[in-house]
Amino acid sequence: MTAGKKILIANRGEIARRVIHAARELGYATVAVHSDPDAGSLAVREADEAFRLPGAEVKDTYLNSDKILAIAKEAGIWAIHPGYGFLSENAVFADDCAQAGFKFIGPSPETMRRLGSKVESKLLAKKAKVPTVPGFEGELPSGKELEKIAAKIGYPLLIKAAAGGGGKGMRVVHKAEELEEAARSAEREALAFFKDKTIFLEKYLERPRHIEVQILGDEHGNLVHLYERECSVQRRHQKMIEETPSPSIDAKFREEICAAALRVARQVGYASAGTVEFIVDEAGHFYFLEVNTRLQVEHPVTEAVTGVDLVKAQILVAEGHALPLKQEDIRQRGHAVECRLYAEDPENHFLPAEGSVGVLVEPQRPGIRVDSALEAGKPVLSLYDPMLAKLIAVGFNRKEALVKMDALLRDYVLLGIRHNLDFLRYTLHSKVFQEGRYHTHSVADILAEYLEKRGPDKPAPDLAYAIAALAGKGGAGPAAGAEAPRAEPLSALKGFKNA
Ligand code: ADP
Repeated sequence: MTAGKKILIANRGEIARRVIHAARELGYATVAVHSDPDAGSLAVREADEAFRLPGAEVKDTYLNSDKILAIAKEAGIWAIHPGYGFLSENAVFADDCAQAGFKFIGPSPETMRRLGSKVESKLLAKKAKVPTVPGFEGELPSGKELEKIAAKIGYPLLIKAAAGGGGKGMRVVHKAEELEEAARSAEREALAFFKDKTIFLEKYLERPRHIEVQILGDEHGNLVHLYERECSVQRRHQKMIEETPSPSIDAKFREEICAAALRVARQVGYASAGTVEFIVDEAGHFYFLEVNTRLQVEHPVTEAVTGVDLVKAQILVAEGHALPLKQEDIRQRGHAVECRLYAEDPENHFLPAEGSVGVLVEPQRPGIRVDSALEAGKPVLSLYDPMLAKLIAVGFNRKEALVKMDALLRDYVLLGIRHNLDFLRYTLHSKVFQEGRYHTHSVADILAEYLEKRGPDKPAPDLAYAIAALAGKGGAGPAAGAEAPRAEPLSALKGFKNA
């Protein structure tokens, strides 16, 4: 029975809207919370009730757990959905929710705690006989002792924060002379961001791929995977384009990596949606990276090919229901791609941008999903995450998904703020992406080529697109002159199998 029950969404933007819609489909009333700049936002208007988190800074608003819990009490809610980012992986907050009598929609605080540390989760993976990146997870000494440990792992190596996320506290070290300073600065950053200065060492893989597995468990011991997502198109170690199925793996690899993900999840009796992340070396060996104990930004590509609504599944599991699906019911059908539209300047080290949404055209057509909370006239503040929208395309095979994505990027118009749309389209057209042969550093090469081809005197790409799209010309083509992919619908249809 959900009648009268309320879910509070402790988040903003597109993910708050995504959760509001899912909760409503299940018959729940929804409660939004918002900072002052978000007062008139779409999420706030769509929710049944909205409460103010005074201020603008995240520490005063979306990270203000005391205030959020006070609102939860006042509104008389049943559960809190944290979305991603903000409080979504905060075990203390999950504990506080439980103590206050609210269900936290996510795994148990105990699971979050055990998997929250990259060090402890690596040990769990080892116990589950899942390969991990060679490194050192013990207490790190300094000086000569530290150098000895590093030399044993070999250079280049990567310093990581145990509590890390979003690439914070990460340092690549190429030689012994850089080690001490890099370790100390990683510790400082880890302390500032996570209030925990624990760092550890890992071998730095040179041209890896990032492949992750979506998992879903319930409180009755059922656990399934929903296959992999390929997330190797990254800038600054953070994702830019994701797709599923991965174009780089075969059925045997898929079976092995998905089985490995389940083995890790079983170590903690995982109950909710989660993601087990792996890194894959050039020889095709996979290594466990970490578990994200929350919904991922890129969850829509999995939804598109499996037909499972992951947010609704999270809510049903939190209600105590058993998973409605068995492993054999879950298949990958067709192909899906997601491009993250960021307010940032690819030509200036992807620096986050601020502005105000001017003209906005978000195309809608078959096989296209746009998860966005943008509205003309609304400001975009660098106080918050620079991700503006998620652009998702699904086709009966990879080629069709890419053609649909190309059309979506071409016809999407956003003026008034610097963004990465043109660069996304250039990346989509690049040979390595078209051929599915990319790794986590491919974006650097693609960017160098993009900057060279674009030249200094071309019109701003977003303006060129907007003019073409508004004039109904179907887009100006990639500003830097790459060839558009062409669909071959009939031959592609013939080859289509539900595999
Ligand atoms: P965070 O949680 O901060 O995002 P992750 O551990 O998930 O950090 O890693 C983010 C990205 O950093 C990976 O997708 C990959 O591109 C890169 N990375 C992580 N570990 C390694 C490694 N050992 N070697 C090379 N690249 C790595």
